[in-house]
Amino acid sequence: MIATPPSFTPLLQARDAPDALTFAFRGNEVLLREADLALPDARAVQALALPAAHLLPVGLYAGRYCQAAWLPQATTPLEGHAFRGLRSLFGRVDDATLAVAGRAFQVADWARTHRFCGACGRPMSRAPGERAMKCDCGHVAYPRISPAMMVLVKHGPAILLARNVAAPPGRFSALAGFLEPGESVEEAIHREVREEVGLEVKDLRYFASQSWPFPGSLMLAFTAEYAGGDIVPEPGEIAEARWFGPGDALPELSPRQSISRALIDANLPR
Ligand SMILES: [Zn+2]
Repeated sequence: MIATPPSFTPLLQARDAPDALTFAFRGNEVLLREADLALPDARAVQALALPAAHLLPVGLYAGRYCQAAWLPQATTPLEGHAFRGLRSLFGRVDDATLAVAGRAFQVADWARTHRFCGACGRPMSRAPGERAMKCDCGHVAYPRISPAMMVLVKHGPAILLARNVAAPPGRFSALAGFLEPGESVEEAIHREVREEVGLEVKDLRYFASQSWPFPGSLMLAFTAEYAGGDIVPEPGEIAEARWFGPGDALPELSPRQSISRALIDANLPR
């Protein structure tokens, strides 16, 4: 599963590093060299003629300075380069670089969408010493991270997998959903399981968390034990949900880069 590499440290202060790794995003796609999916080199970055406000420090990765940039939607790729969605790079770019790219994307996307104050509409500026944009009116905006819960419901040796209406055809996963304002993660789990499949659960156990930059989720994964009810898939949300027990062929699952897959792999029916 994709996670921040141990050799990464975040940075808030921009550096002038000729060998910087630049993650330049147009919308949610990153600029890469077409031939080998490498990041653009210094010359290519220079050709983008990025204004300073579009460039943001991200951190140090294996000793190299990493920066994020956001590009106007009309930007055409430089010769020999192309824009690629991060998900399309799963398995084609190493997981550690993808983790840093996901972090860079969230920083770049936050900068792009917080140029103006959401309270009074005036231009915002970067707050020194923290990852924040501030306005003269007093409004401060931090990068938006949206917590979401994921839960694998277990019933004896069986696990509950569901196919979301928005998922690729045939792909099953654990249940998942965003937290609502005012909710604890535990409350969200009980609510989502009830809403999505009509079941009651107990004995929630934390599994792990993962930053999921599509666009800014923090997935908090749990297991839970079945406590009652019959499966009733939520119309418009869950196309199909069923128990998979020992000996049942497993359906197509999420890619191994995702916490969904790690959660299922750690709790296979047995
Ligand atoms: Zn303001």
